[in-house]
Amino acid sequence: MTPGGQQGPAPVLSDGAVPAGPLAESTPTAQDPPTTRRAPVVVPVAVPATRLAVTLSRVGTSQQVVFLGVDDGYVRSRWLLALERQRHLPFTAFLTNAAWRQDPGYWRQLQAAGVGIEDHTLTHPLLTGLAPTQVRRQICVAATADTAAFGRRPVLFRPPYGGTNAVVRRAAAGCGMRAVVLWDVTVNRGALQYVAGRRHLQAGDIVLMHFRPEMQQDMTAFLRQAAADDLAVAGLENYLTPGR
Ligand SMILES: [Zn+2]
Repeated sequence: MTPGGQQGPAPVLSDGAVPAGPLAESTPTAQDPPTTRRAPVVVPVAVPATRLAVTLSRVGTSQQVVFLGVDDGYVRSRWLLALERQRHLPFTAFLTNAAWRQDPGYWRQLQAAGVGIEDHTLTHPLLTGLAPTQVRRQICVAATADTAAFGRRPVLFRPPYGGTNAVVRRAAAGCGMRAVVLWDVTVNRGALQYVAGRRHLQAGDIVLMHFRPEMQQDMTAFLRQAAADDLAVAGLENYLTPGR
């Protein structure tokens, strides 16, 4: 055994369906990531309840907060669990059903430490290519399974590959989702990538990350930038509240 645990084939670093990964980087916080600003009292943002779920790539708040959604769940990180147990960062895990099923206990531990579990379909297809009944199944059946596993029904939906249209939005609303959550900043291989040539995080940004072997690198880069821009990490579920 190596210090990092078992070594299988290198997991695929894509947003697609990847094979079962090992628990990555088991060494706890060798180097602690920066601490971010303390979260303010939440001023919620009402999301209108419509037949087509609202699509968001940022949250309309002027509070000094940034939102983080981490997708899929094929790679689990002990480092992240240790960090979360210390800091209780209210980020959102958009888990694919087929991914969390490999180790529900890990995700329940992350949830207990403060992470929100939300809907990212059953099997991660590009929904814009599917019939409405299939789209609905991917979102609704996943939500029902999430409810059984995690004791709470998801209220937010992130479409695989960001693929959305009216069919997806209608299905999301029909499955009880408040919003289709996209993003305006991504983290890949330890670097943030912004829309429109920006170089900083702004209040209300929604950041996209994935559960990948480089979680420590990615999360550290995100927290470093949030600290530099004086933003607290806030929970999407707390801010996006049901409107009329
Ligand atoms: Zn995904």
